Amino acid sequence: MLPERSIADPQAPIIDQTTTNIAKTSERDLRETQDRYDAERKKRLRPDGPTQYVGLTVEVTNNLHSNGNIASDNNLLQQNKAQMVIVGAGFGGLLFGVRLLQSGFLCATDILFVDTAGGFGGTWWWNKYPGLVCDVESYTYMPLLEETNYMPSQKYVTGVELREHANRIADQWHLSERGLFQIKVNHLAWNDRATGLLNSPKIPKLDHLEDYKGKVFHTSRWDYDYTGGSPSSPTMHGLQDKTVGFVGTGASAIQAIPHLAQWAKKLVVFQRTPSAVDWRHNHSTDRAWWAKMVQAAGPGWQRERMENFNAFLSNESPLPDVDLVDDGWTKMQSFGLDLHRQETIRHRVETTVIDQATARALKPWYPGWCKRPCFSDNFLTAFNQSNVSLVDTNGKGIRTITNRGILVNCQEYDLDAMVFATGYSLGGSADLGDLTVTGRDNQILQEKRQKGLTSLHGVMTNGFPNLFLSGPYQAGASANQVYVLDQLAVHVAHIISEAGKVISEKTPNVTFLRSTIEPSSHAEGEWTSKVLMGARALGGGFHCTPSYFNREGLQFEDHEVLQAAQFSIWGEGIKSYVKEIEDWRQTGGLAGLDIQSRPV
Ligand code: NDP
Repeated sequence: MLPERSIADPQAPIIDQTTTNIAKTSERDLRETQDRYDAERKKRLRPDGPTQYVGLTVEVTNNLHSNGNIASDNNLLQQNKAQMVIVGAGFGGLLFGVRLLQSGFLCATDILFVDTAGGFGGTWWWNKYPGLVCDVESYTYMPLLEETNYMPSQKYVTGVELREHANRIADQWHLSERGLFQIKVNHLAWNDRATGLLNSPKIPKLDHLEDYKGKVFHTSRWDYDYTGGSPSSPTMHGLQDKTVGFVGTGASAIQAIPHLAQWAKKLVVFQRTPSAVDWRHNHSTDRAWWAKMVQAAGPGWQRERMENFNAFLSNESPLPDVDLVDDGWTKMQSFGLDLHRQETIRHRVETTVIDQATARALKPWYPGWCKRPCFSDNFLTAFNQSNVSLVDTNGKGIRTITNRGILVNCQEYDLDAMVFATGYSLGGSADLGDLTVTGRDNQILQEKRQKGLTSLHGVMTNGFPNLFLSGPYQAGASANQVYVLDQLAVHVAHIISEAGKVISEKTPNVTFLRSTIEPSSHAEGEWTSKVLMGARALGGGFHCTPSYFNREGLQFEDHEVLQAAQFSIWGEGIKSYVKEIEDWRQTGGLAGLDIQSRPV
């Protein structure tokens, strides 16, 4: 009998194993598929790699829609003192705040969030495109469900519900008034920070974009003034007489395209590489199932569910007895041969999309883990609508804009609007962008990193006291980013509160102290060596079709290899990373950290 916590969700779909095992592939088929994968990959390689993109800045694309006004009159700016500044007010920043409060070291008024967004939610504040849904199960993804006693309305909830949840967390921990919004941090010195990953939208470098006379925006800056509708009701009447060009077919695109297909007079989708789109099977949460599941599993159920999800994603051996999440993610064979799955997905395209030329172009020819896996029940069928067409650029992508639209293969497509779903630079602490971080002795973090990234646990670095980073380099990673952020938040909260205890023990009678926490060079050297031993940044991925997962397929020069390996994630998997940092905390003594204090 299965343990009680695996109580079956009555609304979960029954997965037909005969279709998942569709392909009984011969050796010849295998070779042909591999050759096709190689040919498709080579078609897409280009010498400029990641520099083929530009950030979404006002200078580059001055007709792109942005909601960001700098709020210079915010009261908090006047009282700009806080014990802890958290850069980024998304789920990551909020988790850092909550875990610090729970550690008992700070109270809400000691914390200040700063964010370029206009409120809490991070990527879920910026992204309001129609169809936005969390692509990881919400019971696993939404943070602090136990503490907020919140039941997500669906297995995969909308962006609107995720934004509401961010506000719920801020309210519950009295952090709502602690946000400084629509503020861009340009310079950090002696402050603590945590930032999100996907907050720097990018578009391809395009010839003559400035000549285009129509409307342009990125999916992460959706312009409902232009399209009509709203995030909670995307009835986009404004598009009923418009021809819309849509660039990109990644994870955001497959969610937005069905809605545009419903409202636009014409929708022209420009594709470089098709996504591998599996079934989604979203459904409402069954209240009775939820109550039973939460009760049966007891306190800690969400962490257990998150770790069960991670186990299936990383193909742990042995696997847990029960697959609690039981969806398209957990059915993927991590880092293994996933030929059968990809064959099934290609077969699905063939049997769903009526026009066979379009179907051929929509088939993905690469191993599943080369790109973010996608799930949708209505993306492929959108191409059966008479107002929707696909322009496949044969792996080249669009490069030239005219004053009327997009030029591909000498054909000009007249467009009233262009929507870019072309992704993000790895923002936040991954790519500091134009944020200058100055540490001890005027050392600049970017300059230190150019010599080789070093850290303790991926969260602190020597020379930058009181600066806390939120990965991803030299830290663990998972498709469920919220789980990782929570682990980092708990870890940082522990470090800060334990350091506080050390300081009060050392100087019991002094109230006002300026304190610093900083890893020693030796400790970060040791951690970096461990990271290098399991480095995966170079080990895999380069056989893959280009994407932001593998530097757009750009190989490293010999002299870059060691340095690049330092920009790696913890190669032994998220479970091993969490064990490392938990063991370190368990051992006590804040090994490798130098704690100093002096009276103010
Ligand atoms: P992606 O980077 O995944 O996709 C960008 C798309 O733009 C790709 O299809 C890419 O093609 C295409 N593209 C780039 N340049 C050109 C060009 N010149 N011409 C035509 N097409 C081009 O961005 P997304 O916004 O879709 O997703 C980014 C990340 O955001 C995801 O990986 C995921 O982590 C996250 N996300 C999460 C969601 C969630 O629910 N949790 C939902 C949506 C996104 P090519 O493949 O050839 O590079």
